[in-house]
Formats: sequence, structure tokens, C-alpha cells
Amino acid sequence: MMAQCGLRWALLCGQVVDGGKLVLNSAYWARDCQGLKQEGCWVSTTAVDSAQHVPGGLLEAVTAWLAEHEREVTAWREHLHSYPETSHNEVETTAFIAKVLRHHGLEPVLFPATGLYVDIDDLHSVNDAASDGTEHDDAAGLPQPGALRVAFRADIDALPIAENTGLPFASKNPGVMHACGHDVHAAVLLGFACAVADAVKQGAALPQGIRCIFQPAEEVMDGGAPSVISWGALSGVSTIFALHVEPKLAVGRIGIREGAITSAGDVINIEVVGPGGHTSRPHRSADVVYALSRVVTELPAVLSRRIDPRSGTVMVFGAIQAGATANAIPKRGVAKGTIRTADIAVWNMVEPLLRELIGDIVRPTGCDVIVNYQRGVPPVVNDAVATVVCADAVRAIDPEAVVQVPQSSGGEDFSWYLQHIPGAMVRLGAWNGQGKRSDLHQEDMVADPRAVGIGIKFFASVLDRLFG
Ligand SMILES: [Zn+2]
Ligand SMILES: [Zn+2]
Repeated sequence: MMAQCGLRWALLCGQVVDGGKLVLNSAYWARDCQGLKQEGCWVSTTAVDSAQHVPGGLLEAVTAWLAEHEREVTAWREHLHSYPETSHNEVETTAFIAKVLRHHGLEPVLFPATGLYVDIDDLHSVNDAASDGTEHDDAAGLPQPGALRVAFRADIDALPIAENTGLPFASKNPGVMHACGHDVHAAVLLGFACAVADAVKQGAALPQGIRCIFQPAEEVMDGGAPSVISWGALSGVSTIFALHVEPKLAVGRIGIREGAITSAGDVINIEVVGPGGHTSRPHRSADVVYALSRVVTELPAVLSRRIDPRSGTVMVFGAIQAGATANAIPKRGVAKGTIRTADIAVWNMVEPLLRELIGDIVRPTGCDVIVNYQRGVPPVVNDAVATVVCADAVRAIDPEAVVQVPQSSGGEDFSWYLQHIPGAMVRLGAWNGQGKRSDLHQEDMVADPRAVGIGIKFFASVLDRLFG
């Protein structure tokens, strides 16, 4: 436990783990380390001299930058919203982001398909020697010992939905809409990258390198995050942060949650087959309707006795089809449903368990069964320390702004990054405070433009908490 905790802290602090002992770099860390101490970790609050403080802090620098560039950033967001592209097709979106980054003196690295990342470094930083030259050595694209870079991720794809918002900058691409707020995410990260780059040019110090990942294809099952990771985007990265627009939360508020903030959502398709026959002679056939009914009623019940109820695991069937007439036993029937869970351990074991249970339920009926199981994404499980960092970052912007949010039953492929490194995702308030609160993935979803600047400041404030 000690080594694991120490490693977590070291990844976030970018500081030294010496023989399993962890050195914390501010009283802030000490305040929140009681949990670690209770778990038996050795914790010191020794100040670390090598950690450079950014003069005035990045939040201050970025806030000043925003005051000058607000119209520019708003224009970027509106452009991204006007020209949405669906998953894996973000060609123009990628080109636009790359163009803006290059205009600010940055050198984006394009992914093989769509999307890109960009690194921001302070070449005079004390830690650059450790972070440079090691990032691309790992063929698996995973973090390496000594990794120091802090990453921020935005997804950039849109949905196949016809927009009906009436916005002056509504989608110009028929049938495609940024209904999940990824235009806001991309504009936040773009503004943040440009603001930090400009701040560094004007003398701000970055004790650690930064990576901004503009990820494609979040909205589809074969999502972008695993590809982005396989392309090396996490190489040299120690921790990662992201935000997601929340149109039900007032703009200015930022929602946090330790642990699972989204859920895993898998899809199951169960096909039961038999020889078919007359309903007067079920003993000479195999009753597909009966077998399927057993599955639909017994499977969720048995599952609830095999899985910890605290895991928030829910199985619900949304479709069932079998037969066409009263006096004929059909040859096949199908039931389709979803399995959602808040617990990553359950997500890792639920598919084989379901296959076992389905087999046991159908076997006595004499029918055969074919199970098609489609894994979605794991839950986004926010690291405890990273969540504290986020909460403190929000408070530095506005002491009243931080709120606890419930776990969403939706999925998010940011979870794949957190399988490799610690980090956290927050909910960015986007309701304008008047009228109806729209929902994500709806044709009338609207995000308040002020959310973009707040998101940019939030990312800067996270860096201040990590570097300060
Ligand atoms: Zn979405
Ligand atoms: Zn989304």
C-alpha cells in the first residue's frame, strides 16, 4: 500500500519517491494526506526547493490573457460549433486546431488518422532534461518511470444529430451537431494551450511540461482514446485532467466527484434457438419463448445475488422478440439489454459471469443460446488526490463554485487514460441560469459561451495547484 500511495503522490506532485518515502511540496498536500497516513503511508511535508513557482501563478497569467483574447476564443468556439464532424471524420476540425496552435508558435503532432496533441515546455525549466528525450522511447505508448508531463484532454467529435438550437453559429453541416459540447472542450483546450504558450514566452516558468491532447472519436464504441494511447499520447505523461460540459449545472459552477463519475455501459444480445414446433407438443420441441422468458426474468435477479449491490450494477432488457402466432413454437427469439456498473472490478468480470449464468438458465429447456456481448468503456474513476487538486483549483477561481455531482450512468472514454495514469474529469457548468436546462445529445443542447473561459481558467488553476 505504501508504495502504491507514494507512487500516486509522486505522479501528481512530480516529486521524489525515495525508498518508498514521499516528499510533499506544500502545506496543501499535508492537509489532505490524513487518508494516506491512515493507510500506513509515510508522509513528509518537507518543502521541495527545486519546485519553481510561477510568478503570480498561471491562473493570474491566463486570466489576464483571456481579458485580451476573449473575442478570439469565442470565435474559435463558434467556428468549431458551426462546422461539426462526426467520430473519425474530424479532418477540418483537426486542421483548424493545428492552424491556431501553429499561429501561437506551437508545434502540434498530428495523429495518424484525425486528432492531435501538442506539447508546451519551458526550455529553461529545471525538469526539462528529465522529460525530454524519453517520451517516444516506449513502443507501447505508456507512461515511463520519471515521467513528468501533465496532460489535458479534450474530445473533438460531434454527433449525427440535426441541430435545432436557433443559435446564430448553429451547425452548417447538415445532420451533424456538437450536441455533447465537444466544441466547448476543444475551444477550452485550444485557449488554454495558446494562453500558457504566450505566458511562457513572456517569462512564466513551467516546472513540468504540458501536453494537450485533442482526441477524436469519443462518441463511438470503437472510441478514440485506445487508439490515441496506442499512438503514444501518454508516453512521458504522469497525470491527466479533462472536463465535460454539463448543461444542467449553472455556468460558473464546476462539479467534482471522487471515484466513479461515469459508468460502464455494455450491450448484450441473447439469441435463443430451437427446432420449432406445435404448441400442443412442447415436449417434442424446445420452447424458445419459455427459455427466453426465463433469461429475461431470472438473469437480472441471479446477477443481483452474485455481484456486490454496492457496485451500482444494473442489468435491464430493452427489447425482446420471439414468435408470430399463438399456436406455434418459434425457432428463435432474441432479447437485448444493457449492463451498467460503477465498479471497474465488476466490469472486468461481468461478461464471463453473464455467459455462465445464461448457459445455466437456458440448459434445462433444451434450447441453444448464442450470446453476443459488446464491451463499452470502463467507468471514469477519478483518482482521490487528483479530485482534491480539482476541487482546490476551482476554489482558487471562486470559493463558491465547487459542487459535488452524482455519478452519471453514461459512459466516457476518458476512462481508458485512467487505466494507465491517475487523473480526474470534472463537470463544467454550462446552463445560462434562465429557462429550460437542456440535456446532452439533444437537438436543442446549448452551452453558455462563458463556460469556455471558466474551463481555461480551471486548467490553469490545476497547474498552479500541481506546481505551487
Ligand atoms: Zn456524448
Ligand atoms: Zn461528450
